[in-house]
Amino acid sequence: MNIKIHRGLDQIGGCITEISTDTSRVFIDFGQNLPECGEQTTPEDDEQMVLAIFSQNKKQHEAVFYTHGHEDHVGLFEYIPDKVPQYMSEGTMKLLSIKYGLLSEGASLKVNELRKQNCTSEEYDDAVSSLKKAENKCKLLKRMCIWKRTAPRKVPKSILVGDIKVTPFFNCHSIYDSHMFLIEADGKRIWHTGDYREHGYMGKGLIPTLKRYATHIDTLITEGTMLKREDKCIHERDVSGKMAHVMRAFKYVFVLASATDIERLAAIKEAANAAGKRMYVCSKFMKQTMSFFTEQEGEISHGLFAFRPKLYNQRFLNGIKRNGMVMIAGASQKDRLQELLKELPQEETLLIYSSWDGYYRNPEQVKANPFYKEIREMFHNVVDLHTSGHADRGTIENVIKMVNPKEVICIHKEADAEL
Ligand SMILES: [Zn+2]
Ligand SMILES: [Zn+2]
Repeated sequence: MNIKIHRGLDQIGGCITEISTDTSRVFIDFGQNLPECGEQTTPEDDEQMVLAIFSQNKKQHEAVFYTHGHEDHVGLFEYIPDKVPQYMSEGTMKLLSIKYGLLSEGASLKVNELRKQNCTSEEYDDAVSSLKKAENKCKLLKRMCIWKRTAPRKVPKSILVGDIKVTPFFNCHSIYDSHMFLIEADGKRIWHTGDYREHGYMGKGLIPTLKRYATHIDTLITEGTMLKREDKCIHERDVSGKMAHVMRAFKYVFVLASATDIERLAAIKEAANAAGKRMYVCSKFMKQTMSFFTEQEGEISHGLFAFRPKLYNQRFLNGIKRNGMVMIAGASQKDRLQELLKELPQEETLLIYSSWDGYYRNPEQVKANPFYKEIREMFHNVVDLHTSGHADRGTIENVIKMVNPKEVICIHKEADAEL
């Protein structure tokens, strides 16, 4: 069995790992490069690169497996040749379908608007091409092969690709329904962690899962995002506790967080409850991901992952002015936030910045998406409350000790990071 890391050994994200035998091969992730990590490419470059990978080392049986729905792992799925099956968890497929469904809706509105106006043909063509891209992704997502999350204490089902056996295991990361894989072929066993952590609400399963299934491992492929940072990550529960504390001190609290991170959303919700504040969202995306999380996980989590936020509109303004609120928003909601902010006294308003700090500190990131920084700058009062979606050094060392593999390959790490 051969392992080839196409991308990821010396960069965070843009991961592509190939595992092959004489007759078969599987790829784990086909991710897009992140703004400051690795070569910056155009969509045409990306397509060429994917096709070049598929034209070499061809095998009779081929498939792609995705660990989770972040762009740096799944971002190139639209370029995979049609005849190669692609596998992802049900949750990953649903989150991507919500995202691209709403993007097509927005793009289609824009095309209709431009059609009525006197816009340049370039502007119109751009809008049409965004619409086509989003629609194509929605169509491809309908064709994905999916696996369902294994019920607690049940053994996960394996998927066969020729003579390679792949078994997915549920994982804790900063996006819902992330997975690790056991890959078996030619009498060898590989464990691919994907992105993971132990310090989330869903992280307590990590060590028991490894203990039970990651046995006699020849090669452990682990992520190493946090290797250059020595600090221990705080638990999601403690993020929630700190949030409750500051939420009590301000009448109007905005929280900048990701719509796909079920655990952070739960931390915010718990904090809002503890502070006695009603929760609002201002994007359809967040409303829809929360409904999906509630449906999937609300009951089995005894309500921790059940969300009933109000989708903000002007009608709620008087109630908000009277009673205060917690409003969760994503970075793309800048305009809506600005509108609402005009109505509220700044001295009673707080922004909890609950996202990675690189989005506003790192110039490359700001160039790629300026909204995080711009939203921060709209507020007089800002508090940073966040914990990483990635394993800290202590957890990575613990995982290696627990799995005790013959060989460790560390991916998704900075070039000069060392184990
Ligand atoms: Zn990643
Ligand atoms: Zn990730």
